[in-house]
Amino acid sequence: MIPYGRQDITAADIAAVVEVLKSDWLTQGPMVPRFEQAVASKVGAQFGVAVNSATSALHLACLALDLGPGDWLWTSPNTFVASANCGLYCGAKVDFVDIDPLTYNLSVDALALKLEQAERTGTLPKVVIPVHFAGQSCNMAEIYALSQQYGFKIIEDASHAIGGLYKGKPVGSCHYSDITVFSFHPVKVITTGEGGMALTNNSSLAERMQRLRAHGITRDPQQIQGESQGVFYYEQIELGFNYRMTDLQAALGISQLEKLDQFIAQRQHLASVYDNSLSNLPLVLPFQHPDTYSAYHLYVVQVDANHSPLDRGALLDYLRKSGIGVNVHYIPVHTHPYYRKINSSKMQFIEAEKYYANAITLPIFYALQESQQNEIINVLTKVLEK
Ligand SMILES: *Cc1c(COP(=O)(O)O)cnc(C)c1O
Repeated sequence: MIPYGRQDITAADIAAVVEVLKSDWLTQGPMVPRFEQAVASKVGAQFGVAVNSATSALHLACLALDLGPGDWLWTSPNTFVASANCGLYCGAKVDFVDIDPLTYNLSVDALALKLEQAERTGTLPKVVIPVHFAGQSCNMAEIYALSQQYGFKIIEDASHAIGGLYKGKPVGSCHYSDITVFSFHPVKVITTGEGGMALTNNSSLAERMQRLRAHGITRDPQQIQGESQGVFYYEQIELGFNYRMTDLQAALGISQLEKLDQFIAQRQHLASVYDNSLSNLPLVLPFQHPDTYSAYHLYVVQVDANHSPLDRGALLDYLRKSGIGVNVHYIPVHTHPYYRKINSSKMQFIEAEKYYANAITLPIFYALQESQQNEIINVLTKVLEK
């Protein structure tokens, strides 16, 4: 089965990890800060805080922005559940903003309308998490303008989007946000096995996230509240977690990051081959906004229900039986039983649900061979062509 995504690990990646295994530090050594600096400088942010997953990074980002009970967090329904769960971890309430039917990203028009209504009812969000779906940036300039008008904070969930650009600037520069989060899960653009990072240009947010990833403990003389009792001394000054990344993971990340541009160029190439080869089939191909350069974590098509001989379900089954590991991104978060239980079960986001009914994710990853991509295109053409 050709998977929809997979990691690409070279001999250099393996050697980098083996070096750490032979060193004194498997964790809390020099590799983690080195990886943080490498990612931050690559995307043009001042600070990077590496953690054991993007889920942890989202949680810490919410905590650093003081999200808590009584607050609202808004995000896109077309995302992985982690973009919403982070609000619940903090005791906040979670609501969603419907998607733009062209980009499948959170719709700025829907956001503006919902903010207007929320202002009247006193339920404005404290944090909004735009998700750069499939690797294409949201319309950050307009979301930022709304944040200035309504006073909310922005966390970009860029789990799909490291290596992408928005208005010519790297995603992660935090030009239009407080914090940006990357994921290094193996299916994403670069990997550390498990891992994530929060980027920011705000030193106090960075410091807070660093402390929270390590139990809420500090050794900083400025923050210690009692009297230091010696070189060993530290204090826990708030409740944190163990969300640390290991040096093994960071070394892999440093090695992977060196190939980021190459990875993105190949994903862009594969996407353009799909764009050209599938354009006559009853499929809606991914729209690309001219302000963006996508990292193409995913290549998603929608079955054109009016013209396709097969509906999404039947096409997905057929492709899987043909050895093509297609998938669906995403089941709208508000429709999961857990969210139906805690929110109004009548909650509806029409565009996200319509999109979901027809979406199929085709394989796209660095090592996808030309022959494999041709096979995928041939199978699709044969089954969908009249
Ligand atoms: C993968 C993903 C996450 C979670 O990433 P982990 O590193 O697996 O915790 C969060 N949000 C989105 C949009 C993702 O795709």
